[in-house]
Amino acid sequence: MLYQVMLPILDIVQDILQNKGPETQIQERLDSVFQAQQENRYTISKTTASERIAKLKKILHWVDAHRTDIHKALREDFNKPEAETDLSEILVVTGEIKHAIKHLRHWMKPRRVPGSLTFLTTSSYIQFEPRGVVLIIAPWNFPFNLTMGPVVSAIAAGNCMIVKPSELTPATSALMGRLFRELFPENEIAMFEGDKDVATMLLEKPFDHIFFTGSPAVGRIVQQAAAKHLSTVTLELGGKSPVIVDKSASMDDAVAKISWGKFMNNGQACIAPDYALVHKDRYAEFVEKMSKTVKKYYGQSPEERKSSDHYARIITERHHGRLKGLVDKAIEQGAKLVLGGTADASEKYLAPTLLTDVPNHSPIMKEEIFGPVLPILAVDSMDQAIGIVQKMEKPLALYMFSNTERNIQKVLNGTTAGGTCINDTMIHFLHPNLPFGGVNFSGSGNSHGFYGFRAFSHERSVLRHHRLAPMKMMYPPYTPFVRKIINLVVRYL
Ligand code: NAD
Repeated sequence: MLYQVMLPILDIVQDILQNKGPETQIQERLDSVFQAQQENRYTISKTTASERIAKLKKILHWVDAHRTDIHKALREDFNKPEAETDLSEILVVTGEIKHAIKHLRHWMKPRRVPGSLTFLTTSSYIQFEPRGVVLIIAPWNFPFNLTMGPVVSAIAAGNCMIVKPSELTPATSALMGRLFRELFPENEIAMFEGDKDVATMLLEKPFDHIFFTGSPAVGRIVQQAAAKHLSTVTLELGGKSPVIVDKSASMDDAVAKISWGKFMNNGQACIAPDYALVHKDRYAEFVEKMSKTVKKYYGQSPEERKSSDHYARIITERHHGRLKGLVDKAIEQGAKLVLGGTADASEKYLAPTLLTDVPNHSPIMKEEIFGPVLPILAVDSMDQAIGIVQKMEKPLALYMFSNTERNIQKVLNGTTAGGTCINDTMIHFLHPNLPFGGVNFSGSGNSHGFYGFRAFSHERSVLRHHRLAPMKMMYPPYTPFVRKIINLVVRYL
Protein backbone atom coordinates (compact mmCIF):
# COMPACT_ATOMS: atom_id res chain seq x y z
CA MET A 1 0.00 0.00 0.00
CA LEU A 2 2.76 2.41 1.08
CA TYR A 3 4.70 1.40 -2.00
CA GLN A 4 1.70 2.27 -4.25
CA VAL A 5 1.38 5.72 -2.66
CA MET A 6 5.12 6.37 -2.90
CA LEU A 7 5.49 5.25 -6.51
CA PRO A 8 4.06 8.38 -8.23
CA ILE A 9 6.05 10.62 -5.83
CA LEU A 10 9.26 8.74 -6.66
CA ASP A 11 8.45 9.17 -10.38
CA ILE A 12 8.09 12.94 -9.94
CA VAL A 13 11.36 13.15 -7.95
CA GLN A 14 13.11 11.12 -10.64
CA ASP A 15 11.75 13.42 -13.38
CA ILE A 16 12.96 16.51 -11.49
CA LEU A 17 16.40 14.94 -11.01
CA GLN A 18 16.57 14.09 -14.70
CA ASN A 19 15.44 17.64 -15.49
CA LYS A 20 12.49 16.53 -17.66
CA GLY A 21 10.08 19.27 -18.77
CA PRO A 22 6.30 18.77 -18.57
CA GLU A 23 6.12 18.20 -22.33
CA THR A 24 8.61 15.33 -22.18
CA GLN A 25 6.71 13.82 -19.27
CA ILE A 26 3.41 13.97 -21.16
CA GLN A 27 5.02 12.50 -24.27
CA GLU A 28 6.53 9.63 -22.27
CA ARG A 29 3.23 8.88 -20.56
CA LEU A 30 1.43 9.06 -23.90
CA ASP A 31 3.91 6.70 -25.58
CA SER A 32 3.56 4.18 -22.81
CA VAL A 33 -0.26 4.42 -22.52
CA PHE A 34 -0.72 4.20 -26.29
CA GLN A 35 1.55 1.13 -26.43
CA ALA A 36 -0.28 -0.49 -23.51
CA GLN A 37 -3.66 0.11 -25.18
CA GLN A 38 -2.37 -1.36 -28.45
CA GLU A 39 -1.37 -4.49 -26.55
CA ASN A 40 -4.72 -4.66 -24.79
CA ARG A 41 -7.00 -3.90 -27.74
CA TYR A 42 -7.81 -7.49 -28.76
CA THR A 43 -8.54 -8.46 -25.16
CA ILE A 44 -11.06 -5.60 -24.95
CA SER A 45 -12.45 -6.21 -28.43
CA LYS A 46 -13.24 -9.83 -27.51
CA THR A 47 -15.43 -8.76 -24.58
CA THR A 48 -19.02 -9.99 -24.61
CA ALA A 49 -22.13 -7.84 -24.42
CA SER A 50 -22.51 -8.79 -20.72
CA GLU A 51 -18.98 -7.63 -19.93
CA ARG A 52 -19.48 -4.31 -21.69
CA ILE A 53 -22.85 -3.83 -20.01
CA ALA A 54 -21.17 -4.41 -16.63
CA LYS A 55 -18.73 -1.56 -17.41
CA LEU A 56 -21.58 0.75 -18.40
CA LYS A 57 -23.42 -0.08 -15.18
CA LYS A 58 -20.31 0.84 -13.18
CA ILE A 59 -20.35 4.29 -14.78
CA LEU A 60 -24.09 4.62 -14.17
CA HIS A 61 -23.65 3.90 -10.46
CA TRP A 62 -20.67 6.25 -10.21
CA VAL A 63 -22.63 9.09 -11.83
CA ASP A 64 -25.56 8.42 -9.52
CA ALA A 65 -23.32 8.46 -6.45
CA HIS A 66 -21.51 11.65 -7.56
CA ARG A 67 -24.43 13.74 -8.84
CA THR A 68 -23.72 16.51 -6.32
CA ASP A 69 -20.03 16.56 -7.29
CA ILE A 70 -21.03 16.96 -10.95
CA HIS A 71 -23.36 19.86 -10.02
CA LYS A 72 -20.54 21.52 -8.06
CA ALA A 73 -17.98 21.09 -10.85
CA LEU A 74 -20.22 22.73 -13.44
CA ARG A 75 -21.15 25.58 -11.06
CA GLU A 76 -17.42 26.13 -10.58
CA ASP A 77 -16.61 26.01 -14.28
CA PHE A 78 -19.26 28.44 -15.56
CA ASN A 79 -21.97 28.87 -12.95
CA LYS A 80 -24.17 26.31 -14.67
CA PRO A 81 -27.49 25.96 -12.81
CA GLU A 82 -28.04 22.53 -11.21
CA ALA A 83 -31.32 22.05 -13.09
CA GLU A 84 -29.51 22.59 -16.42
CA THR A 85 -26.73 20.23 -15.35
CA ASP A 86 -29.33 17.58 -14.53
CA LEU A 87 -31.14 18.02 -17.86
CA SER A 88 -28.33 18.65 -20.30
CA GLU A 89 -25.37 16.80 -18.78
CA ILE A 90 -26.39 14.02 -16.38
CA LEU A 91 -29.67 12.93 -17.94
CA VAL A 92 -28.13 12.82 -21.41
CA VAL A 93 -25.29 10.57 -20.25
CA THR A 94 -27.43 8.27 -18.06
CA GLY A 95 -29.99 8.08 -20.88
CA GLU A 96 -27.25 7.09 -23.34
CA ILE A 97 -25.99 4.41 -20.92
CA LYS A 98 -29.45 2.96 -20.21
CA HIS A 99 -30.28 2.85 -23.91
CA ALA A 100 -26.99 1.06 -24.68
CA ILE A 101 -27.53 -1.43 -21.83
CA LYS A 102 -30.99 -2.24 -23.21
CA HIS A 103 -29.97 -2.65 -26.84
CA LEU A 104 -26.31 -3.66 -26.89
CA ARG A 105 -26.92 -7.40 -27.31
CA HIS A 106 -28.99 -6.68 -30.39
CA TRP A 107 -26.52 -4.10 -31.79
CA MET A 108 -23.62 -6.53 -31.48
CA LYS A 109 -25.38 -9.34 -33.33
CA PRO A 110 -24.11 -9.99 -36.85
CA ARG A 111 -26.60 -8.69 -39.44
CA ARG A 112 -27.47 -11.23 -42.10
CA VAL A 113 -27.70 -9.79 -45.62
CA PRO A 114 -29.72 -11.36 -48.45
CA GLY A 115 -27.80 -12.84 -51.36
CA SER A 116 -28.47 -12.93 -55.09
CA LEU A 117 -28.42 -15.75 -57.64
CA THR A 118 -24.63 -15.48 -57.92
CA PHE A 119 -24.31 -16.02 -54.17
CA LEU A 120 -26.84 -18.82 -53.83
CA THR A 121 -24.32 -21.12 -52.23
CA THR A 122 -23.05 -18.59 -49.69
CA SER A 123 -24.31 -16.95 -46.52
CA SER A 124 -23.19 -13.44 -45.71
CA TYR A 125 -23.40 -11.04 -42.81
CA ILE A 126 -22.05 -7.80 -41.38
CA GLN A 127 -20.13 -8.10 -38.16
CA PHE A 128 -19.57 -5.01 -36.02
CA GLU A 129 -16.02 -5.10 -34.77
CA PRO A 130 -14.36 -2.50 -32.53
CA ARG A 131 -12.21 0.05 -34.30
CA GLY A 132 -9.41 -0.60 -31.79
CA VAL A 133 -7.69 2.27 -30.00
CA VAL A 134 -9.63 5.50 -30.38
CA LEU A 135 -9.16 9.15 -29.46
CA ILE A 136 -12.00 11.30 -28.11
CA ILE A 137 -11.48 15.08 -28.06
CA ALA A 138 -14.24 17.06 -26.35
CA PRO A 139 -15.26 20.74 -26.12
CA TRP A 140 -16.06 22.78 -23.01
CA ASN A 141 -19.68 23.77 -23.54
CA PHE A 142 -21.35 20.57 -22.27
CA PRO A 143 -18.16 19.19 -20.77
CA PHE A 144 -19.63 16.14 -19.05
CA ASN A 145 -22.20 15.19 -21.66
CA LEU A 146 -19.95 15.65 -24.71
CA THR A 147 -17.04 13.74 -23.16
CA MET A 148 -18.94 10.89 -21.52
CA GLY A 149 -21.46 10.40 -24.36
CA PRO A 150 -18.82 9.27 -26.89
CA VAL A 151 -17.02 7.31 -24.13
CA VAL A 152 -20.21 5.30 -23.53
CA SER A 153 -20.52 4.50 -27.25
CA ALA A 154 -16.84 3.59 -27.50
CA ILE A 155 -17.12 1.21 -24.51
CA ALA A 156 -20.29 -0.34 -25.97
CA ALA A 157 -18.41 -0.95 -29.21
CA GLY A 158 -15.47 -2.59 -27.38
CA ASN A 159 -12.62 -0.09 -27.81
CA CYS A 160 -9.64 1.11 -25.81
CA MET A 161 -9.54 4.89 -25.68
CA ILE A 162 -7.68 8.05 -24.82
CA VAL A 163 -9.89 10.96 -23.80
CA LYS A 164 -8.95 14.63 -23.95
CA PRO A 165 -11.50 16.96 -22.39
CA SER A 166 -11.40 20.73 -22.79
CA GLU A 167 -8.85 22.75 -20.86
CA LEU A 168 -11.51 25.41 -20.18
CA THR A 169 -13.56 23.34 -17.72
CA PRO A 170 -10.90 22.14 -15.24
CA ALA A 171 -13.30 21.18 -12.43
CA THR A 172 -15.41 18.89 -14.63
CA SER A 173 -12.29 17.44 -16.27
CA ALA A 174 -10.74 16.64 -12.88
CA LEU A 175 -13.93 14.87 -11.83
CA MET A 176 -14.06 12.78 -15.02
CA GLY A 177 -10.39 11.94 -14.51
CA ARG A 178 -11.34 10.55 -11.09
CA LEU A 179 -14.16 8.52 -12.64
CA PHE A 180 -11.80 6.92 -15.17
CA ARG A 181 -9.06 6.23 -12.62
CA GLU A 182 -11.49 4.64 -10.16
CA LEU A 183 -13.28 2.48 -12.73
CA PHE A 184 -10.85 1.58 -15.53
CA PRO A 185 -7.19 0.63 -15.95
CA GLU A 186 -5.16 3.02 -18.11
CA ASN A 187 -4.57 0.34 -20.74
CA GLU A 188 -8.32 0.54 -21.43
CA ILE A 189 -9.32 4.17 -20.77
CA ALA A 190 -6.85 6.97 -20.09
CA MET A 191 -7.45 10.68 -19.87
CA PHE A 192 -4.99 13.37 -20.92
CA GLU A 193 -5.78 16.90 -19.76
CA GLY A 194 -4.36 19.90 -21.56
CA ASP A 195 -4.81 22.45 -24.31
CA LYS A 196 -4.09 22.35 -28.01
CA ASP A 197 -0.43 21.40 -27.43
CA VAL A 198 -1.51 18.16 -25.76
CA ALA A 199 -4.16 17.62 -28.45
CA THR A 200 -1.45 18.06 -31.10
CA MET A 201 0.74 15.42 -29.42
CA LEU A 202 -2.22 13.04 -29.29
CA LEU A 203 -3.02 13.63 -32.95
CA GLU A 204 0.49 12.46 -33.89
CA LYS A 205 -0.46 8.91 -32.86
CA PRO A 206 -1.93 6.42 -35.36
CA PHE A 207 -5.36 6.08 -33.73
CA ASP A 208 -7.85 3.77 -35.40
CA HIS A 209 -10.57 6.39 -35.05
CA ILE A 210 -10.79 9.99 -33.88
CA PHE A 211 -14.06 11.32 -32.50
CA PHE A 212 -13.80 15.11 -32.35
CA THR A 213 -16.39 17.54 -31.04
CA GLY A 214 -15.58 21.23 -31.41
CA SER A 215 -15.33 24.11 -33.85
CA PRO A 216 -15.16 23.72 -37.65
CA ALA A 217 -11.76 25.48 -37.61
CA VAL A 218 -10.19 22.86 -35.32
CA GLY A 219 -12.18 20.13 -37.10
CA ARG A 220 -10.11 20.90 -40.22
CA ILE A 221 -6.86 20.50 -38.25
CA VAL A 222 -8.08 17.18 -36.83
CA GLN A 223 -9.07 15.87 -40.25
CA GLN A 224 -5.66 16.82 -41.68
CA ALA A 225 -3.85 15.10 -38.81
CA ALA A 226 -6.04 12.00 -39.24
CA ALA A 227 -5.18 11.88 -42.95
CA LYS A 228 -1.52 11.28 -42.09
CA HIS A 229 -2.42 7.86 -40.62
CA LEU A 230 -5.62 7.39 -42.63
CA SER A 231 -7.46 7.27 -39.31
CA THR A 232 -11.22 7.46 -39.71
CA VAL A 233 -12.93 10.46 -38.10
CA THR A 234 -16.26 11.55 -36.72
CA LEU A 235 -16.47 15.33 -36.68
CA GLU A 236 -19.19 16.88 -34.52
CA LEU A 237 -18.82 20.57 -35.39
CA GLY A 238 -20.89 23.75 -35.20
CA GLY A 239 -22.11 26.67 -37.27
CA LYS A 240 -25.05 29.06 -37.46
CA SER A 241 -28.32 27.20 -36.83
CA PRO A 242 -31.32 29.21 -38.05
CA VAL A 243 -34.84 29.24 -36.67
CA ILE A 244 -37.58 30.06 -39.15
CA VAL A 245 -40.97 31.30 -37.94
CA ASP A 246 -43.71 31.47 -40.57
CA LYS A 247 -47.05 33.29 -40.65
CA SER A 248 -48.98 30.31 -39.29
CA ALA A 249 -46.76 29.59 -36.26
CA SER A 250 -48.31 29.18 -32.80
CA MET A 251 -46.46 32.15 -31.40
CA ASP A 252 -46.66 31.58 -27.62
CA ASP A 253 -45.38 28.04 -28.08
CA ALA A 254 -42.65 29.19 -30.49
CA VAL A 255 -41.22 31.92 -28.24
CA ALA A 256 -41.28 29.65 -25.17
CA LYS A 257 -39.23 27.02 -27.00
CA ILE A 258 -36.89 29.42 -28.80
CA SER A 259 -36.10 31.36 -25.59
CA TRP A 260 -35.28 28.11 -23.79
CA GLY A 261 -33.14 26.81 -26.67
CA LYS A 262 -31.31 30.11 -27.07
CA PHE A 263 -30.48 30.99 -23.46
CA MET A 264 -29.98 27.58 -21.86
CA ASN A 265 -26.26 27.09 -21.06
CA ASN A 266 -25.97 30.84 -21.75
CA GLY A 267 -26.44 30.24 -25.47
CA GLN A 268 -23.26 28.14 -25.56
CA ALA A 269 -24.77 25.16 -27.35
CA CYS A 270 -23.76 23.89 -30.77
CA ILE A 271 -27.45 23.50 -31.68
CA ALA A 272 -28.75 26.69 -30.05
CA PRO A 273 -30.89 28.75 -32.45
CA ASP A 274 -28.28 31.21 -33.76
CA TYR A 275 -30.57 33.73 -35.49
CA ALA A 276 -34.31 33.99 -36.19
CA LEU A 277 -35.99 34.60 -39.55
CA VAL A 278 -39.56 35.69 -38.85
CA HIS A 279 -42.35 36.41 -41.32
CA LYS A 280 -42.87 40.15 -41.48
CA ASP A 281 -46.58 39.87 -40.54
CA ARG A 282 -45.69 38.30 -37.17
CA TYR A 283 -42.37 40.08 -36.60
CA ALA A 284 -43.50 42.72 -34.08
CA GLU A 285 -45.48 40.12 -32.12
CA PHE A 286 -42.47 37.76 -32.08
CA VAL A 287 -40.10 40.46 -30.80
CA GLU A 288 -42.51 41.58 -28.08
CA LYS A 289 -43.28 38.03 -26.91
CA MET A 290 -39.60 37.01 -26.92
CA SER A 291 -38.82 39.97 -24.70
CA LYS A 292 -41.64 39.07 -22.28
CA THR A 293 -40.61 35.39 -22.18
CA VAL A 294 -36.95 36.13 -21.45
CA LYS A 295 -38.06 38.37 -18.55
CA LYS A 296 -40.35 35.62 -17.28
CA TYR A 297 -37.50 33.06 -17.38
CA TYR A 298 -34.67 35.14 -15.91
CA GLY A 299 -36.14 38.23 -14.17
CA GLN A 300 -38.13 41.38 -14.93
CA SER A 301 -35.36 43.93 -14.30
CA PRO A 302 -31.75 43.94 -15.56
CA GLU A 303 -30.58 43.51 -11.93
CA GLU A 304 -32.82 40.49 -11.39
CA ARG A 305 -31.58 38.90 -14.59
CA LYS A 306 -27.96 39.46 -13.58
CA SER A 307 -28.44 37.88 -10.17
CA SER A 308 -30.63 35.04 -11.48
CA ASP A 309 -29.59 31.63 -10.25
CA HIS A 310 -30.98 30.14 -13.44
CA TYR A 311 -28.62 31.88 -15.84
CA ALA A 312 -25.10 30.57 -16.51
CA ARG A 313 -21.98 32.56 -17.45
CA ILE A 314 -19.71 32.87 -20.47
CA ILE A 315 -16.85 30.39 -20.23
CA THR A 316 -13.86 32.81 -20.29
CA GLU A 317 -13.15 36.55 -20.45
CA ARG A 318 -11.82 36.03 -23.99
CA HIS A 319 -15.12 34.51 -25.14
CA HIS A 320 -16.99 37.25 -23.26
CA GLY A 321 -14.99 39.95 -25.04
CA ARG A 322 -15.67 38.36 -28.44
CA LEU A 323 -19.43 38.31 -27.80
CA LYS A 324 -19.52 41.87 -26.47
CA GLY A 325 -17.56 42.93 -29.56
CA LEU A 326 -20.11 41.24 -31.87
CA VAL A 327 -23.03 43.01 -30.15
CA ASP A 328 -21.30 46.42 -30.12
CA LYS A 329 -20.32 46.12 -33.79
CA ALA A 330 -23.87 45.13 -34.82
CA ILE A 331 -25.29 48.16 -32.97
CA GLU A 332 -22.67 50.42 -34.54
CA GLN A 333 -23.80 49.07 -37.94
CA GLY A 334 -27.45 49.92 -37.30
CA ALA A 335 -28.90 47.01 -35.28
CA LYS A 336 -31.43 47.92 -32.60
CA LEU A 337 -31.15 46.63 -29.05
CA VAL A 338 -34.54 45.33 -27.91
CA LEU A 339 -33.40 43.72 -24.68
CA GLY A 340 -30.15 43.19 -22.80
CA GLY A 341 -26.77 44.23 -24.16
CA THR A 342 -25.34 44.89 -20.70
CA ALA A 343 -22.09 43.14 -19.90
CA ASP A 344 -19.82 42.70 -16.90
CA ALA A 345 -16.45 41.27 -17.88
CA SER A 346 -15.40 40.67 -14.25
CA GLU A 347 -18.29 38.24 -13.87
CA LYS A 348 -18.23 37.03 -17.49
CA TYR A 349 -21.86 38.12 -17.58
CA LEU A 350 -23.68 39.08 -20.74
CA ALA A 351 -27.39 39.79 -20.35
CA PRO A 352 -29.84 37.83 -22.51
CA THR A 353 -29.84 40.02 -25.60
CA LEU A 354 -32.30 40.50 -28.46
CA LEU A 355 -31.29 42.48 -31.55
CA THR A 356 -33.45 43.58 -34.49
CA ASP A 357 -32.61 45.27 -37.82
CA VAL A 358 -29.24 43.55 -37.95
CA PRO A 359 -27.52 44.20 -41.30
CA ASN A 360 -26.67 41.03 -43.25
CA HIS A 361 -23.00 42.00 -43.53
CA SER A 362 -22.53 42.42 -39.77
CA PRO A 363 -20.02 39.90 -38.28
CA ILE A 364 -22.77 38.66 -35.94
CA MET A 365 -24.55 37.32 -39.06
CA LYS A 366 -21.34 35.73 -40.35
CA GLU A 367 -19.80 33.78 -37.46
CA GLU A 368 -21.38 31.32 -35.02
CA ILE A 369 -22.59 33.43 -32.06
CA PHE A 370 -22.33 30.76 -29.34
CA GLY A 371 -23.68 33.06 -26.64
CA PRO A 372 -26.90 34.63 -25.30
CA VAL A 373 -27.61 36.94 -28.23
CA LEU A 374 -30.42 36.48 -30.76
CA PRO A 375 -30.51 38.56 -33.95
CA ILE A 376 -34.09 38.66 -35.26
CA LEU A 377 -34.58 39.32 -38.98
CA ALA A 378 -37.88 39.95 -40.81
CA VAL A 379 -38.53 38.06 -44.07
CA ASP A 380 -41.20 38.63 -46.72
CA SER A 381 -41.66 34.98 -47.58
CA MET A 382 -40.40 31.45 -47.00
CA ASP A 383 -38.47 31.74 -50.27
CA GLN A 384 -36.54 34.66 -48.84
CA ALA A 385 -35.83 32.74 -45.62
CA ILE A 386 -34.65 29.73 -47.63
CA GLY A 387 -32.44 31.99 -49.77
CA ILE A 388 -30.72 33.39 -46.65
CA VAL A 389 -30.08 29.90 -45.24
CA GLN A 390 -28.79 28.60 -48.59
CA LYS A 391 -26.16 31.35 -48.76
CA MET A 392 -24.66 30.32 -45.41
CA GLU A 393 -22.59 27.23 -44.55
CA LYS A 394 -24.65 24.07 -43.95
CA PRO A 395 -25.95 24.29 -40.38
CA LEU A 396 -25.85 21.69 -37.62
CA ALA A 397 -29.54 22.31 -36.84
CA LEU A 398 -32.42 24.10 -38.51
CA TYR A 399 -35.64 24.86 -36.64
CA MET A 400 -39.00 25.69 -38.15
CA PHE A 401 -42.15 26.90 -36.41
CA SER A 402 -45.18 26.53 -38.65
CA ASN A 403 -48.61 24.98 -38.92
CA THR A 404 -48.58 24.94 -42.72
CA GLU A 405 -47.45 21.60 -44.14
CA ARG A 406 -46.62 23.15 -47.53
CA ASN A 407 -44.19 25.60 -45.90
CA ILE A 408 -42.62 22.88 -43.76
CA GLN A 409 -41.98 20.72 -46.84
CA LYS A 410 -40.70 23.74 -48.76
CA VAL A 411 -38.11 24.51 -46.09
CA LEU A 412 -37.10 20.84 -45.69
CA ASN A 413 -36.66 20.45 -49.44
CA GLY A 414 -34.95 23.80 -49.99
CA THR A 415 -32.30 23.51 -47.27
CA THR A 416 -29.94 21.00 -45.71
CA ALA A 417 -28.93 20.64 -42.05
CA GLY A 418 -27.48 18.06 -39.68
CA GLY A 419 -30.87 17.78 -37.96
CA THR A 420 -34.18 19.60 -37.78
CA CYS A 421 -36.97 20.11 -35.26
CA ILE A 422 -40.34 21.21 -36.50
CA ASN A 423 -42.12 23.23 -33.81
CA ASP A 424 -39.36 22.77 -31.25
CA THR A 425 -35.69 23.47 -30.63
CA MET A 426 -32.77 21.36 -29.43
CA ILE A 427 -34.66 18.24 -28.30
CA HIS A 428 -33.77 16.10 -31.32
CA PHE A 429 -30.39 15.82 -29.55
CA LEU A 430 -32.08 13.80 -26.80
CA HIS A 431 -33.89 11.32 -29.05
CA PRO A 432 -32.23 7.92 -28.56
CA ASN A 433 -33.08 6.60 -32.03
CA LEU A 434 -32.14 9.61 -34.16
CA PRO A 435 -28.58 9.97 -35.47
CA PHE A 436 -26.98 13.19 -34.25
CA GLY A 437 -24.44 14.89 -36.49
CA GLY A 438 -23.68 17.65 -38.95
CA VAL A 439 -23.27 17.92 -42.68
CA ASN A 440 -19.99 19.08 -44.28
CA PHE A 441 -19.14 22.37 -42.51
CA SER A 442 -21.13 21.32 -39.43
CA GLY A 443 -19.60 17.85 -39.29
CA SER A 444 -19.50 14.33 -40.64
CA GLY A 445 -20.58 11.04 -39.13
CA ASN A 446 -23.10 10.55 -36.35
CA SER A 447 -23.38 9.86 -32.66
CA HIS A 448 -25.97 8.70 -30.10
CA GLY A 449 -27.49 5.29 -29.48
CA PHE A 450 -26.90 2.77 -32.25
CA TYR A 451 -25.29 5.47 -34.40
CA GLY A 452 -22.68 6.11 -31.68
CA PHE A 453 -22.00 2.37 -31.41
CA ARG A 454 -21.65 2.29 -35.18
CA ALA A 455 -19.27 5.28 -35.23
CA PHE A 456 -16.88 3.33 -32.99
CA SER A 457 -17.25 0.08 -34.94
CA HIS A 458 -15.95 -1.20 -38.24
CA GLU A 459 -18.62 -2.93 -40.30
CA ARG A 460 -16.80 -6.05 -41.40
CA SER A 461 -18.24 -7.98 -44.33
CA VAL A 462 -18.11 -11.71 -43.83
CA LEU A 463 -18.97 -14.17 -46.64
CA ARG A 464 -19.03 -17.89 -45.98
CA HIS A 465 -18.89 -20.26 -48.88
CA HIS A 466 -20.38 -23.71 -48.64
CA ARG A 467 -18.89 -26.64 -50.51
CA LEU A 468 -20.65 -26.10 -53.82
CA ALA A 469 -19.05 -23.09 -55.52
CA PRO A 470 -20.41 -22.34 -59.02
CA MET A 471 -17.85 -19.54 -59.35
CA LYS A 472 -15.25 -22.26 -59.89
CA MET A 473 -16.85 -22.94 -63.28
CA MET A 474 -15.52 -19.57 -64.40
CA TYR A 475 -11.91 -20.04 -63.34
CA PRO A 476 -9.12 -20.19 -65.97
CA PRO A 477 -8.26 -21.53 -68.44
CA TYR A 478 -10.96 -19.59 -70.27
CA THR A 479 -12.01 -22.29 -72.68
CA PRO A 480 -14.91 -21.66 -75.10
CA PHE A 481 -17.17 -23.48 -72.60
CA VAL A 482 -16.07 -21.21 -69.72
CA ARG A 483 -16.55 -18.13 -71.92
CA LYS A 484 -20.10 -19.32 -72.68
CA ILE A 485 -20.90 -19.57 -68.99
CA ILE A 486 -19.39 -16.13 -68.30
CA ASN A 487 -21.47 -14.69 -71.17
CA LEU A 488 -24.64 -16.16 -69.69
CA VAL A 489 -23.80 -14.81 -66.24
CA VAL A 490 -23.05 -11.31 -67.58
CA ARG A 491 -26.29 -11.34 -69.56
CA TYR A 492 -28.75 -12.79 -67.11
CA LEU A 493 -27.48 -12.30 -63.56
P1 NAD B 1 -12.60 24.06 -30.01
O1 NAD B 1 -12.62 23.53 -31.41
O2 NAD B 1 -11.88 25.31 -29.73
O3 NAD B 1 -12.00 22.97 -28.99
C1 NAD B 1 -12.47 21.65 -28.95
C2 NAD B 1 -11.36 20.73 -28.46
O4 NAD B 1 -10.28 20.79 -29.38
C3 NAD B 1 -10.80 21.10 -27.09
O5 NAD B 1 -10.54 19.93 -26.36
C4 NAD B 1 -9.48 21.82 -27.45
O6 NAD B 1 -8.48 21.70 -26.46
C5 NAD B 1 -9.07 21.10 -28.71
N1 NAD B 1 -8.24 21.93 -29.60
C6 NAD B 1 -8.18 23.27 -29.67
N2 NAD B 1 -7.29 23.65 -30.62
C7 NAD B 1 -6.79 22.52 -31.15
C8 NAD B 1 -5.83 22.24 -32.17
N3 NAD B 1 -5.21 23.23 -32.82
N4 NAD B 1 -5.57 20.96 -32.47
C9 NAD B 1 -6.21 19.96 -31.83
N5 NAD B 1 -7.12 20.16 -30.86
C10 NAD B 1 -7.40 21.42 -30.51
O7 NAD B 1 -14.15 24.16 -29.59
P2 NAD B 1 -14.76 24.71 -28.24
O8 NAD B 1 -14.54 26.17 -28.15
O9 NAD B 1 -14.33 23.86 -27.11
O10 NAD B 1 -16.32 24.41 -28.51
C11 NAD B 1 -17.12 25.27 -29.26
C12 NAD B 1 -17.33 24.76 -30.67
O11 NAD B 1 -17.69 23.39 -30.66
C13 NAD B 1 -18.47 25.47 -31.38
O12 NAD B 1 -18.15 25.68 -32.72
C14 NAD B 1 -19.63 24.48 -31.26
O13 NAD B 1 -20.65 24.66 -32.22
C15 NAD B 1 -18.91 23.20 -31.40
N6 NAD B 1 -19.66 22.11 -30.77
C16 NAD B 1 -20.19 21.13 -31.54
C17 NAD B 1 -20.94 20.13 -30.96
C18 NAD B 1 -21.57 19.02 -31.76
O14 NAD B 1 -22.02 18.05 -31.15
N7 NAD B 1 -21.64 19.12 -33.06
C19 NAD B 1 -21.13 20.13 -29.58
C20 NAD B 1 -20.56 21.14 -28.84
C21 NAD B 1 -19.81 22.12 -29.43
